[in-house]
Amino acid sequence: MQQVATGIEERDKFAAELKRLKAEREQMERRIRELERQLREASLREEITAPITTDAQLVKTLDRLLRKVTMILQAEKCVFMLFDRETNLLIAQRPAVGLTDEEIRLFRLPATEGVSGQVFREGKPLILQDAMRDPRTVKEHVALLQVQNCITVPLMVEERDEEQRVVSRRPIGVLHVFNKRRGRQFLEEDLRLLVIMARSAAAVIRSANIYRELREEVDRLEATLESLLAGVVMVDMNEKLLLMNEAARRIFNLPPKVELGRPYYDLISDQATQNFIQQALRSKEELAQEFTYYLPTERIFQAQAAPVHNEAGEILGVVSIFNDITEIRNVERMKTAFISRVSNQLLTPLTSIQGFVSMLAEEDESFDRHTRHEFYIIIREEVERLWRLISDLLHLSRIEHGITPELLPEPIDLEELVPKVVDAQKATTSKHDFVVDIAPDVPRIEADRESIEKILTNLVNNAIKYSPEGGTVTVQVVRHDNGVRLSVQDEGIGIPEDQRGKIFERLETGDWDDTRAEQGPGIGLFMVKHLVEAHGGTIEVESEVGKGSTFTVTLPLHPPPEVLQRQRETTGNQTA
Ligand code: ADP
Repeated sequence: MQQVATGIEERDKFAAELKRLKAEREQMERRIRELERQLREASLREEITAPITTDAQLVKTLDRLLRKVTMILQAEKCVFMLFDRETNLLIAQRPAVGLTDEEIRLFRLPATEGVSGQVFREGKPLILQDAMRDPRTVKEHVALLQVQNCITVPLMVEERDEEQRVVSRRPIGVLHVFNKRRGRQFLEEDLRLLVIMARSAAAVIRSANIYRELREEVDRLEATLESLLAGVVMVDMNEKLLLMNEAARRIFNLPPKVELGRPYYDLISDQATQNFIQQALRSKEELAQEFTYYLPTERIFQAQAAPVHNEAGEILGVVSIFNDITEIRNVERMKTAFISRVSNQLLTPLTSIQGFVSMLAEEDESFDRHTRHEFYIIIREEVERLWRLISDLLHLSRIEHGITPELLPEPIDLEELVPKVVDAQKATTSKHDFVVDIAPDVPRIEADRESIEKILTNLVNNAIKYSPEGGTVTVQVVRHDNGVRLSVQDEGIGIPEDQRGKIFERLETGDWDDTRAEQGPGIGLFMVKHLVEAHGGTIEVESEVGKGSTFTVTLPLHPPPEVLQRQRETTGNQTA
């Protein structure tokens, strides 16, 4: 009996021990699995610790990551898809494991369709055990990629605050793993693992996107710098060239590719410019100076140099900017010349008026009535000249301020107006002959009378002024297309070919030849062109040096609609 009891006790003890051992083994197995899991997760995380700085690096990192995922989950294929906001498509991306380039290219679908669409929209992972039969799959893709079973998880990017707390989550695509090896099925454990790995993949993609955006920004900046009209040169504190844009290479006559890192004085040979950069490096202050370079014609540059600091406030070097200010200087020169010419033009009639008035004031008996009358006529002409000049100046300033001259169109009979203007000019010269030739079929035009008078007066006046030896001035008017053509021809000094386009510009005078006859302030033709164009017409010049010039103006029968409209508005306002 005792023995039996002992036997039973022994058996129970053995059973209990077995149970304990079993439990222990299970616990140990669990620990091993947990350790394995930790190991796998750690080995995945390590993938993204190094920051990605190139596209090639991104592809490599992602490739490694996807291979690891495929290996750990013991699957055949792995591919991720990104959502394209413009097309609303989920598009498979490279790199992928077990897919050909062509398969990757074809694997895309609207974000509303299939398992990919569902996972992307709902943000929840999914296991499919039988892809072919599952109603949620897109059969075309299942067949294309030969999918038997799969796990699909969303790719989410997380925004974190300063304390690394996740503040938002946003889906950017999905990650698929296809076909567990050896005909096995994917388990919940696989899915859990994939969710963790997808987080790493999303982080890699996101950091790559940020890198790509930064790269694009840098490229844009570089392109802007290259396309700048101003030359830009940056030199570090060791006198090494850090940057030189295209304009600067042109200024310093350098080839399209210059080697950065070389001493700047090896590349910029101009001594004065070298001194300027040297001084900026030494003084660490802002500097400005003007330079003249021959490229090969003379150009004036305004150079400015300033120190460049990094975020910590340390000086990295000096940037110098070279702006071509030749045109500005030319305009300044032209303005000065213009003022002196205008002053002369004002002084000449004033001196003459003063002279004649003082002679008249002396009441000298030696001047008979006839002479006195002549004096009065001269005074009147000089006053008219002054009046014309001042009115032209006012006109010019109005145009410069963007104020369009007010045109008041009315029917004009050129047969009456042209001879009147020519007669007035005839009185100013005794050396010239005048021919006025108006075709009998010339129609009346609708135009602003004052403008047409100004146009003609200026052209005839120039014809006289620029034929100092005399000659014939011919004014011709003919019918032309749907309007008239008016030409003023002289036998004067002519205009060199390269100057013909310029004479219609503001303040341009024929200063190409100092020996030329008296010159005006250079606003006549500019104003004439402006008035002609305001009427919808054109002006041209033909000329031969030493032989003479012909200015031809065409005018339409009616001014453009906007002129008439403006006139209607003005008269409407006046009556209102
Ligand atoms: P300006 O007040 O100098 O006469 P314009 O604008 O009327 O100014 O003319 C510009 C320049 O064009 C003149 O300075 C002159 O050199 C040239 N020019 C104008 N008309 C003639 C002409 N008929 N013959 C030769 N040169 C002319």
